[in-house]
Amino acid sequence: VLEIHGVHKSFGTLDVLRGIDLTAQAGTVTVILGPSGSGKSTLLRSINHLEKVDRGRVRLDGELIGYRQAGGKLHELGERHILQQRARIGFVFQNFNLFPHLTALENVAEAPIAALKKPKIQVYDHARELLARVGLADKTDVYPRQLSGGQQQRVAIARALALEPRLILFDEPTSALDPELVGEVLDVLRDLAAAGTTMIVVTHEIGFAREAADTVIFMDEGRIVEQGPPAQVLDHPRHERTQSFLSKVL
Ligand code: ATP
Ligand code: MG
Repeated sequence: VLEIHGVHKSFGTLDVLRGIDLTAQAGTVTVILGPSGSGKSTLLRSINHLEKVDRGRVRLDGELIGYRQAGGKLHELGERHILQQRARIGFVFQNFNLFPHLTALENVAEAPIAALKKPKIQVYDHARELLARVGLADKTDVYPRQLSGGQQQRVAIARALALEPRLILFDEPTSALDPELVGEVLDVLRDLAAAGTTMIVVTHEIGFAREAADTVIFMDEGRIVEQGPPAQVLDHPRHERTQSFLSKVL
């Protein structure tokens, strides 16, 4: 589904991504670990062209993201086309980012109505199903401020699902939550994984990585230092930097 080749990104003199190659197959869960500042969020943002990469390519189902190729040159796509591409890539943020003035149901229904111009009745029915799927069937008409952090994050996940994306990116989806609320969000992620959703998850939840990931990636200083199945990367890391990181988070 997703192919990333040779992606570089700098902010001024700071090289944040230094040659990232990564492939995610359909139906797989990729967990990205790494210390603060290693470039994890920048990588996720590069995937859906929220960051413009300096070098390299991102492809979704073979299609170049953010650019079209003509006569050996790359031309950046127009805003509308980029938004269409982004609709195929869900994004769930650390801080939920719900619209405060919209109910849970309206939050989930907003993008399909605005972006895809789908009929409202159909969108609202689907949004209700999605809220039920994340365990919030009784919260459809409630505003974000009336929800716990865990509930808000589950609404955000339902909202990401509403566009039926090919792939969902999660940037530390549980790190803003009180410890007792982390489990309910991870349960939803596990359900999605079991249902075959293609996901890339930046998280420090090693237990989740162990159970749910097909591939675990360890990033440091803008590079992928190590990647493989969880049993390998988490239990038998080859690199000293992975070992020292894991000894701190475990
Ligand atoms: P964390 O675990 O703290 O979320 P991260 O691995 O997600 O860290 P990034 O957010 O990708 O790290 O940031 C990598 C580096 O790039 C950091 O040093 C950060 O300060 C820098 N950076 C990120 N975005 C920008 C920006 N828009 N302008 C300048 N520097 C940036
Ligand atoms: Mg980050």
